[in-house]
Amino acid sequence: MEFRVDRDDLVQKFLSFVKIETTSNEDNAATPSSECQWNLAKILKEELQRIGLDNVRLDDHCYIYGVLPESLPAGSPRAGKIPAVGLIAHMDVSPAVSGKDVKPIIHRNYDGGPIRLPGAPELVLTPENDKPLGECKGLDIITSDGTTLLGADDKAGIAIILSVLQFLQKNPEVPHGPVHVAFTPDEEIGRGVDKFDVEGFGAEVAYTLDGAGQGEVEDETFCADAMDVTFRGINVHPGYAKNKMINSIKLASELIEMLPKNAMSPETTAERQGYVHPMSVKGNEELTELKFLIRDFTDAGLKELERTLEEKVRAVEKAHPGCSAETKVKHSYKNMKVMLDQRPETTAFAEEAIRAAGIKVHKNPIRGGTDGARLSFLGLPTPNLSAGGLNFHGKTEWVPIQYMENAATVCLHLLQLWAEKGEKKGLLPKVD
Ligand SMILES: [Zn+2]
Repeated sequence: MEFRVDRDDLVQKFLSFVKIETTSNEDNAATPSSECQWNLAKILKEELQRIGLDNVRLDDHCYIYGVLPESLPAGSPRAGKIPAVGLIAHMDVSPAVSGKDVKPIIHRNYDGGPIRLPGAPELVLTPENDKPLGECKGLDIITSDGTTLLGADDKAGIAIILSVLQFLQKNPEVPHGPVHVAFTPDEEIGRGVDKFDVEGFGAEVAYTLDGAGQGEVEDETFCADAMDVTFRGINVHPGYAKNKMINSIKLASELIEMLPKNAMSPETTAERQGYVHPMSVKGNEELTELKFLIRDFTDAGLKELERTLEEKVRAVEKAHPGCSAETKVKHSYKNMKVMLDQRPETTAFAEEAIRAAGIKVHKNPIRGGTDGARLSFLGLPTPNLSAGGLNFHGKTEWVPIQYMENAATVCLHLLQLWAEKGEKKGLLPKVD
């Protein structure tokens, strides 16, 4: 049977979700960070109940969970043996651009030319300035009117997951294992996992549907540390400072000067290259503190960059007898691949499902973190899959309807692969 969800229903859901304001707020320490996220959460809770999921709950922190129980032909030898697979998407949208009063526009049968947004004449989408658009001739593309973001990140993910559940409910002859669903708040401000109940969620592997375009499988992130460097100089009244003062501001500036100009920085690296990135300087003659972000795809590479920075700090210290320098490394997060490699079928099935849907697989390491990375280290291996959208966090965000539809097809194939070949192994041991 063909795994095609109901397109009109998928689109209708998506359009109704993007119109609900759910912008998260980094200045509010509470979870959820904005009250408006409850408005979508309540609708999604009802939606899960309507589709017929078990144990649907919306908790005090605006996380929604629900379970579509296993469905197998009577007497199936696979009964009770299929691992629970999680599907996760986030409800909030980025605070970078307004997400209030979103007015989605459908550009049917895209002709390959420029797409103009009526609310912002200066913003024109063209295949020249937006390459993926070149591959979308003939597709139906949704944008905002140009005055707000669209919110395909990640309401496309939510609409896709609901369509998948609905498809399975309407086609009970399609065998599948338990599907555990979660919708989370505050992903865009880096707090989507803070209150995630991994144990209660009950899945042993999961997928976030939060990636761009189609065919993407993200199973690698940076390894990330922060390094604080403090220079202590000697302050003397400037009138009497000759041969006595050591200005710590100048020590800091010497260190920055020693960093390579054409390498090792975010602005000069791409793909699998790491960097050392000064992100804040604060000080006076006496004391200057610098904060660095250190990033690489391997732990060894990360340590190497830290050693390089440390050596330069010591060189500055040595050149100015009387001053002192202190360094402190703070661990941030690790490449999720070390966790996913312990359940390689998680990524392998995703790639197989994408191919089964007739789409080319793209694997790119993420130069940042994801919610899935944090979940993976909590014991729930969670790669990120495409949900169709492009140009996230901006007024030119867009999504082809067919990409969302294809993402749903990928999910259905993925659940089939787990039903046929998956083995129960439980959660991985947590790693701090
Ligand atoms: Zn997202």
